Amino acid sequence: MKKIAILGSTGSIGTQTLDVARENGDIEVLGLAAGSNIDLLEEQIREFRPELAAVWSEEKAQELKQRIADTNTRVVSGMDGLLEVSTMKNTEILVTAIVGMIGIRPTIEAIKAGKDIALANKETLVTAGHIIMPLALEHQVSILPVDSEHSAIFQSLQGNKAKSVHKILLTASGGPFRGKKEEDLMEIRVEDALKHPNWSMGQKITIDSSTMVNKGLEVIEAKWLFGVDVDQVQVIVQPQSIIHSMVEYVDGAVIAQLGTPDMKLPIQYALYYPERRYLPGERVDFWSLGKLEFEKPDMDTFYGLKLAYEAGRTGGSLPTVFNAANELAVSQFLKREIKYLEIVEIIEDCMQAHQIIENPTLEQILDTETATYDRIKSRR
Ligand code: NDP
Repeated sequence: MKKIAILGSTGSIGTQTLDVARENGDIEVLGLAAGSNIDLLEEQIREFRPELAAVWSEEKAQELKQRIADTNTRVVSGMDGLLEVSTMKNTEILVTAIVGMIGIRPTIEAIKAGKDIALANKETLVTAGHIIMPLALEHQVSILPVDSEHSAIFQSLQGNKAKSVHKILLTASGGPFRGKKEEDLMEIRVEDALKHPNWSMGQKITIDSSTMVNKGLEVIEAKWLFGVDVDQVQVIVQPQSIIHSMVEYVDGAVIAQLGTPDMKLPIQYALYYPERRYLPGERVDFWSLGKLEFEKPDMDTFYGLKLAYEAGRTGGSLPTVFNAANELAVSQFLKREIKYLEIVEIIEDCMQAHQIIENPTLEQILDTETATYDRIKSRR
């Protein structure tokens, strides 16, 4: 039995991780953590019987405690609760499917406790990659990518040496507004931006995909996961989302991973790596697919991607500003407090105002996050 814990078990990646566990039957789920959705968390506890469950909100944690008093699951709350789930004695893998920079501390503590990380929570790597990657090396734990593109790159790297990599070809669907120009995006509503053409995901990443900020975060994520410069990562729009990413080697060979869009594949690959397991579901039918298309991304309209390259190239605390500004701006857009185009305007404004700290400590990263939030909140 493989023993895992999941941060963000009630979300899109979290529930699909539990689907993989259920379908395989040989994964023991020892810990679960969620924000506030205790209805779903209760169902998960009753099905998977974990030792520990964490709820961010203290009030909801108390309510859950009463509801599941007939089970053996212990309920904890807040950051201490997240850290407890992340460092449980008997888990082998921590699945980080929580959304946002809140994942940094639990990821760091899990690595120190010797857990392999199945990493979906890209915001952690974007902002603290310079801390996470050396720490993982020191503690000899693996950081296994769950993001479909990074899993595709990881799969395309198997059997090859890192030094023979020339370029990473990171594919993007282009999102719901592919081909649109700034004037078409002025009146975009929340419900328009939440319609992704190919993937069904949590709200934040769906908005990020529409602005292409998600692809920008992924460029920086690739830099840390695969030890390349951001300028070695080329974004290619592949509207059908069949090619999940590719690696170009020094001899010109390009190796890609293809498949229908289904997050269970990268989740399962991360959990069982290096083993490949049977996964039911739709297969790519090349006869009916007919053709695959490729485009250059429009970085003038979707200049959040350009800002991500700048943040990734500069490094230090700038990726934290890029990410933190986006996190708050997206949540303001989801609450209909700002307009769609303001998301990237806010990121640019925060990046321009920031005094870069080289090699920031965890504390400096969290201070930078707070300072970025304060700047955005003082806008109005
Ligand atoms: P969702 O919004 O669907 O889920 C987020 C999860 O995090 C929920 O379980 C939520 O709990 C939990 N959560 C939020 N805040 C806290 C908190 N303070 N303490 C504990 N738990 C918390 O997100 P996704 O699953 O879409 O994305 C998760 C991560 O994976 C993101 O970093 C995203 O970029 C990445 N990712 C997602 C992909 C996808 O297909 N969805 C693909 C690739 C990467 P609650 O439900 O109670 O609010």
